[in-house]
Amino acid sequence: MNLSLFDLIAFDADDTLWHNERYYRLGRERFRAILAGYGVDPAGDERLDAIEIRNLPYYGYGVMSFILSLIEAAIELTDGRFRADDVGRLLALGKEMLGANVEIYERVVETLAELSDKYPLMLITKGEPTHQHAKIERSGIAGYFRHIEVLHDKSPATYAAVLERYQLAPERFMMVGNSMRSDILPVLHLGSWAVYVPNEMTWAHEHAEQPSTNHQRMYTINHLAELPGLLSKIDP
Ligand SMILES: [Mg+2]
Repeated sequence: MNLSLFDLIAFDADDTLWHNERYYRLGRERFRAILAGYGVDPAGDERLDAIEIRNLPYYGYGVMSFILSLIEAAIELTDGRFRADDVGRLLALGKEMLGANVEIYERVVETLAELSDKYPLMLITKGEPTHQHAKIERSGIAGYFRHIEVLHDKSPATYAAVLERYQLAPERFMMVGNSMRSDILPVLHLGSWAVYVPNEMTWAHEHAEQPSTNHQRMYTINHLAELPGLLSKIDP
C-alpha cells in the first residue's frame, strides 16, 4: 500500500454513486403542473435556473434551497397570485424529496468494495449537511469510506482545505465524480488527479468546459465500474 501512487481516493456522491438529479427533474415537473393552474409555463426552466443560481450564495445547494427557489419563482411568474395552499404543495414536495430512497447505481457497491481493499476512500459531497448525512446513512455504503466530508461548495479553496485537514499531498489525491465544474476542474487546478464519470442527468449549472488540452491527470470513464481497471493501469 505504501508503494501506491495515491494516499486517498475521493468520490462525489450525487449522480456519481446514486441517483439525485432525477428527483429534481420530477420536482420541476410537479412545479410546472402547479403553475399550469395559473396559466403560466416556466418556459424551459430558464427563469427557474436563473433564480436557483442567484440564490446559491444565500441558501447553498440542496433540496431546501431548491424549494425556496421554486416558491420565489412561483410568486414572480404569477405576479403575486400564487396561493398559500400551493406553497404548501411545494413544501410537501420538498419533504418528499428529502425523504426519498437513496438509489445506488449498479455495480457501485462491488466497485467500492474492491477499491477499499487497496485504498482509503473518502466521500466528498456538497449541499445541506442534514440531508447529505441522512442520505449517506440511508445509502448503506458509508462503511466503505474512511472519511466523509460535506462541503458548502466544491472549489479549489474548499478542496485545498480538505487536503490540508487530512495532510494529503495534492499529487497523491484523486477525485472521482460526474461534475466537470465541481469534481474535476478544481482538483486539477490543485495538481491532483481526477476521474470524470459523465452522467446525462447532471444539472446544467454543473457543466463546464473540459480542459482544452489533454490533461495528464484527468481520465474519463463511462461507468464507475471501470475505475478499478483504470487504476490497475495507472497505479499497478
Ligand atoms: Mg455529483
